[in-house]
Amino acid sequence: MENYSFFDNVNQFVNQAAGYLELPQGLLEQIKECNSVYQMNFPVKLDNGHYEVIEAYRVQHSHHRLPVKGGIRYSMAVNEDEVKALAALMSYKCALVDVPFGGAKGGVKIDTRKYSENELEKITRRYTTELIRKNFISPAQDVPAPDYGTGAREMAWIADTYAAMNNGELNALACVTGKPITLHGIRGRTEATGRGVFYGIRTAVDVAEDMKSLGLTPGLEGKRIIIQGLGNVGYYSAKYLQEGGAIITGIAEYNGGIYDPNGLDVEEVHQLKQEKGSILNYKNAKNIQNSIELLEYECDILIPAALENQITAENAPGIKAKIVGEAANGPVTTEAANILQERGLRILPDFYLNAGGVTVSYFEWLKNLSHVAFGRMDKRYEELTNRGMVTAMEEISGHQLSETQKNSLVRGAGEIDIVNSGLEETMINAYYTIWEIMKTKETGSLRIASFISAMEKISTAYVARGIFP
Ligand code: NAD
Repeated sequence: MENYSFFDNVNQFVNQAAGYLELPQGLLEQIKECNSVYQMNFPVKLDNGHYEVIEAYRVQHSHHRLPVKGGIRYSMAVNEDEVKALAALMSYKCALVDVPFGGAKGGVKIDTRKYSENELEKITRRYTTELIRKNFISPAQDVPAPDYGTGAREMAWIADTYAAMNNGELNALACVTGKPITLHGIRGRTEATGRGVFYGIRTAVDVAEDMKSLGLTPGLEGKRIIIQGLGNVGYYSAKYLQEGGAIITGIAEYNGGIYDPNGLDVEEVHQLKQEKGSILNYKNAKNIQNSIELLEYECDILIPAALENQITAENAPGIKAKIVGEAANGPVTTEAANILQERGLRILPDFYLNAGGVTVSYFEWLKNLSHVAFGRMDKRYEELTNRGMVTAMEEISGHQLSETQKNSLVRGAGEIDIVNSGLEETMINAYYTIWEIMKTKETGSLRIASFISAMEKISTAYVARGIFP
């Protein structure tokens, strides 16, 4: 893996997809390259009085649409190549699910476990300040979000720093998404990526002809799933999949994994992780010290939801699952993807499957710009209209509905209902779009079909804009 480049890996797929498109000369290079790469080093004063210099990045991949958007990752694995690749994937992801943004990504090279909350706040606020100085953050230019190692807490610090340094800017809080609800975040954002993974997998397993060719029955009910990573994406994916009828048989974490063919209770395992910092020793489950081995255990669906490069040429031949759902970004290398493809497995590609986060981030940005929560203006009106209809139906039919029936029929849509409905619609539509491309263009994979769909939209936008100056 020494000379491996994640960014080159993404571009290999882009090149393959370009073979199905007739792009004007030069446009492919423009689409592939990162438009702006900002590498910074800044000092922080630690609690013990010592100073440390932190390495960080923000990459804007594509300006075909503005603002650009992409999460901020805190991890020791952060480097320029990784941030560029993740920024590029954001461009394709946004285009694929019709989120009208270009792609970007940020990374801070730290191990969050080594810092106090106070130190993490200092690092986050200083990183934000560096971004402000270079115009790499603003509601109209570049809107970050959470990613690996960051969450609503960090987004709140970013929003507060930006607002403090842009006093009087009405839309200041739209400079970042994934904020806490109390700071104008949106209901459903925290769980959005996992919920999107659930919608994506549920849609894929509902296609009877595909399931037949994989030797599976249609529907989620009873599907055995192994998931790697029980963080934000992994936990919510596992939770909704379990609620949807799937059986979670294995969960892998960085410090060990657990397996029980009869199924694990996701809530309980999550609770254990919160309390003990480890999921090991859960009830009757078998402990697996080297958790990467769990990826090769028997199951129907494997969901890597932790980090990139988890399925490589080394372990791909041993994967037993029929479907690999890439909830993390870049968990399967190109070589591994080719091996899985040849073995007849179906891969649900990352920039489709984990697009739920950016979709709901887009809704949050819209909410922040309109300064009103979805449903606030019309929920009660909707309820009144529905109640009138129910009363009329009762009068015409002479049949009285129970209070419970009535309440469920009249209920107006609140913010969470509108967000989840928009997310579900987005994930289902995008799946059938790429599925159709895969069939008609005979791409052989959903990944190439996804790149084709995204690149068609990006190239059209670039051509329509022209070049200035
Ligand atoms: P997170 O930090 O909340 O969770 C990551 C989890 O993976 C943690 O529980 C961690 O302990 C575990 N982990 C780390 N190394 C591991 C290893 N070697 N084996 C098994 N488990 C390991 O991060 P997240 O937000 O859930 O992000 C996970 C992935 O999903 C990343 O690739 C990220 O880029 C991608 N993603 C996240 C979002 C989002 O909204 N958070 C959106 C799209 C994509």
